[in-house]
Amino acid sequence: MFAGHFGLALAAKRATPRTSLGTLFLGAQLLDLVWPVFLIVGIEQVRIVPGLMAASPFDFVHYPWTHSLLMACAWGMLVGGIYFAARRDARGAAIVGALVVSHWVLDFPMHRPDLPLWPGGPVVGLGLWRSIPITLLLEAILFGGGALAYARATVAHNRIGSIGYGVLVAFIAVAYLSVVFGPPPADAHAMAWTTLVMWLFVPVGAWIDRHRTLRTAAA
Ligand SMILES: [Zn+2]
Repeated sequence: MFAGHFGLALAAKRATPRTSLGTLFLGAQLLDLVWPVFLIVGIEQVRIVPGLMAASPFDFVHYPWTHSLLMACAWGMLVGGIYFAARRDARGAAIVGALVVSHWVLDFPMHRPDLPLWPGGPVVGLGLWRSIPITLLLEAILFGGGALAYARATVAHNRIGSIGYGVLVAFIAVAYLSVVFGPPPADAHAMAWTTLVMWLFVPVGAWIDRHRTLRTAAA
């Protein structure tokens, strides 16, 4: 899953209004943000197998430290703990931590059985990536729903908040469609380096969030 993770982060704004969208993006995508780093340093491995699944050419050979359920919970507790230490906001910390775990939960229906429950443990996955229509439908519902929920929960106070937000939403949608319908990456190592640009969504999300206010606060 890709856009759906952003959708959940956007939807979470209502539940924890004081948390920056950048932090919510970081939580929901943390596993995929750490993953390319671990690929580059050689802790985890992926192979690109064109045609492996209709909506994904990735053979996730080894990724227990980012994509096992146990480690997702550990990352969630770490990030939630850091958030609590910094902000003293238990509700916000719990939601950010839960977003980290939500990444694994949303990946579970999409991946073939390659997601470990714990490092070295049994692997699970429902394999919905075998169907492009189902994949696109789920991504669209989650991302579209989240984008709408964020737009409704907040109000822009300038063009960065309004147009900037529109551009961000369109960019995520187009980026995702180009991943699904574009040619598979030629080389796993180069793909890992390119995937690092995903980190940019954190400052960009925080930047746009600063130019929007909660609707209740504005009213
Ligand atoms: Zn993932």
